[in-house]
Amino acid sequence: MLYFDHNATSPLLPVARAAWLEATDQFPGNPSSQHRLGARADRALEDARQRLATILGCAAPDLVWTSGATESCNAVLCHAAATADAAGGAAARVCVSALEHPAVRESAARAFGGRVDLIPATRDGTADLGWLADHLGRARPALVALMAANNETGVLQPWREAQAMCTARGVPFFCDATQWCGRLPAAGLGGCDFMAGSAHKFGGPRGLGFLKVPAAVAFTPWLVGGKQEAQRRAGTENVPAAVAAVAALAWCEEQIAAGGAEARMAVRTRFEQQLAAALPGLRINGTVTPPPGGPARLWNTVSVIVPDAGDAADCRVRWVVKLDKAGFAVSTGSACASGSEAPSPVLTAMGLTAAEAARALRFSAGWLTPESAWDELAAALINLHRELAPR
Ligand code: PLP
Repeated sequence: MLYFDHNATSPLLPVARAAWLEATDQFPGNPSSQHRLGARADRALEDARQRLATILGCAAPDLVWTSGATESCNAVLCHAAATADAAGGAAARVCVSALEHPAVRESAARAFGGRVDLIPATRDGTADLGWLADHLGRARPALVALMAANNETGVLQPWREAQAMCTARGVPFFCDATQWCGRLPAAGLGGCDFMAGSAHKFGGPRGLGFLKVPAAVAFTPWLVGGKQEAQRRAGTENVPAAVAAVAALAWCEEQIAAGGAEARMAVRTRFEQQLAAALPGLRINGTVTPPPGGPARLWNTVSVIVPDAGDAADCRVRWVVKLDKAGFAVSTGSACASGSEAPSPVLTAMGLTAAEAARALRFSAGWLTPESAWDELAAALINLHRELAPR
């Protein structure tokens, strides 16, 4: 099976597996325990925290281990609402990009009720910064949330500019960097006020996430109970998973530093050109002109609208099932939305119609995806298009 669903979850990297096995053997203790085995586990955990902080560009005490990005996002939105309430701002609003993952959108809706303002998206799939500038000129939200890279389209978001705008106005900024980490340099993400990541998206183990929240912030924990994580997240830490996550991220950063992202971008571009040439009517979502000196989309992600084959029903599933039979694991978009009949809020926010969004497929690769796999996928898509075309 050729796996093209890394944005849903990326298989454990060999380096992470080795680190996990070693840490499981070497650090059996609970990092909060008083004995030497506990102290050793605590040292390993703190060492992993320091290594992660160095990669992200923040201080180690600013990082909190969580169970994944969903928990990190829930925690940030819950904290923002609690802080606003405590300051007497029961009417405080939150500003969230329309392109956010449900982990952010739904958390915002729950924590702030109807007091959520959506930053609209452009047709190219980026958050509209002009709108945000305008909004911040008139309002003072409790938090602004903008992801780093979109999980469905791979489109990179102007998170640095949004952070700068928020800093200038004294508004806290949250960046969900779940799809960015491990694919593009993570340096600088630690400069966001709040930031979330998840190990299983970059070849670390599932069930391990992290959250950057400045140590100086009086954080309202989402999970309460024990006093772990400086009382910012209760629950016994998963030491082997943290060690393995950092091993995976450090390995990804090495690939990036060695020019791996540019090389894979070229492969992906060739794949897109093959499809465009053979499948008239196919559309690639988020085809923006790259900004000078940087890519516009993640090198690993291609989101397409397959040509209209005249079927009224949702045809994505047909393509996914047929590709599965042909040996390719691909996705219709967000893994969290599969099973849902509703069109993707991300694609509709970009101005696509429900009918267009119903023809969306997402292909997402990993560092170990061979170049030949993209060629094989292109050939399979072209065959399938011929098979499904109206006669
Ligand atoms: N944020 C983004 C952008 C994602 O892509 C995902 C997962 O798809 C999440 C958050 C949730 O991550 P997790 O599975 O670690 O809870």
